[in-house]
Amino acid sequence: MNENIKSNVSDLGPYKVIQLYFPVSGFHAMVVVDNTALGPSIGGVRVSPAVTLDEVKRLARTMTLKNSIAGLPHGGGKAGIAIDPASPDKERFFRIFARAIQTLTDYIPGPDMGSNETCMAWIHDEIGRAVGLPEEIGGLPLDKHGATGFGLAECAEVACSYAGIALSGSKVAIQGFGSVGKMAARFMADKGAVVIAVSDTKGTISDPRGIDIPRLIEVKDSTGSVTNYKPGAVKDTGALFSERSDILIPAATPDVITTDNADMVKAKLILQGANIPATVEAEALLHKRGILSIPDFIANAGGVIMAAMEYAGNTEGEAFQAISKRIKENTQLIIEKSLREHIPPRQAAEHIAKDRVFSAMCYSRIV
Ligand code: NAD
Repeated sequence: MNENIKSNVSDLGPYKVIQLYFPVSGFHAMVVVDNTALGPSIGGVRVSPAVTLDEVKRLARTMTLKNSIAGLPHGGGKAGIAIDPASPDKERFFRIFARAIQTLTDYIPGPDMGSNETCMAWIHDEIGRAVGLPEEIGGLPLDKHGATGFGLAECAEVACSYAGIALSGSKVAIQGFGSVGKMAARFMADKGAVVIAVSDTKGTISDPRGIDIPRLIEVKDSTGSVTNYKPGAVKDTGALFSERSDILIPAATPDVITTDNADMVKAKLILQGANIPATVEAEALLHKRGILSIPDFIANAGGVIMAAMEYAGNTEGEAFQAISKRIKENTQLIIEKSLREHIPPRQAAEHIAKDRVFSAMCYSRIV
């Protein structure tokens, strides 16, 4: 029966696609529940005026794969709220959104770009269902703990040896200096890596001698941009990709590495901190150039692993242990499979992740 279902099921989802429009408040939102065979879906709420349904669908699929390969009892989902993250009405919009998804119990919201633990507390207050909550109400605030940045540095420990890089002393360039970028910089620096360039929407700060990360965090938090850090050269945002680094960490928006700039990348190793940061064509190009690129749903799984551990009632220490173990094991697993079968790491990872979901679908009424 399992094989029969596997051979008849060509895709994983999406299972539910919901578009919400609130004419009085004047905003729209969307939720995609991609697959629930492994359990209720978990995925972040992206807040951006530019968020699209197509983007949310792709991100929900990434969550299905991420939760599967991380061995979590959760399917993949994602939401988007099309408002300015700095809106003074943000709390009201979040509460309206929360009430609208109250009965959608196979979607558990978490933080993502433009949302944080406070936003999750608002949702939880309305409907009693959200992860990445503040500590005061029993949560493990994954951005505050730096769960994703921690996982990226653990991933680097394994991936560096395959890319022929010594992690201690390696040069790192990071695109985006928000929750993920800041914590990735901190945990990479703790392992002896030297962060030589960081970008945000205003530009890139670059210093081949190394950037002082605690000071850069202070500058970003107090002035709003990494470009106000001194010393170092201030360049345009796109210059980040051509920096002479060993490791590149995209930690901002989707589709930033394309066929237009994949040739400029000088790093030997890419750790995908952001979700879907490279187009399919760009990933193929990077692979052809011998650049090892660890896919998003392996490298940045730290956040959702902590979220799932919070949901299951585990402690912060147990969550960090699980992140380290699962990300290190999976990084090695997919690189070995990729080398053995002469396929890109993303393809190797997709095979493993999809196989677990398809097997679970055999036990589900919804196939
Ligand atoms: P965030 O909103 O805290 O930070 C985003 C940062 O990216 C900001 O510094 C912003 O200035 C910068 N940025 C945006 N566009 C840019 C551009 N074109 N060039 C350079 N910088 C740019 O978001 P975050 O939580 O750090 O998430 C970043 C990415 O990581 C997203 O793709 C998200 O889906 C993914 N991710 C986040 C987590 C998490 O735990 N927060 C977990 C897994 C994946």
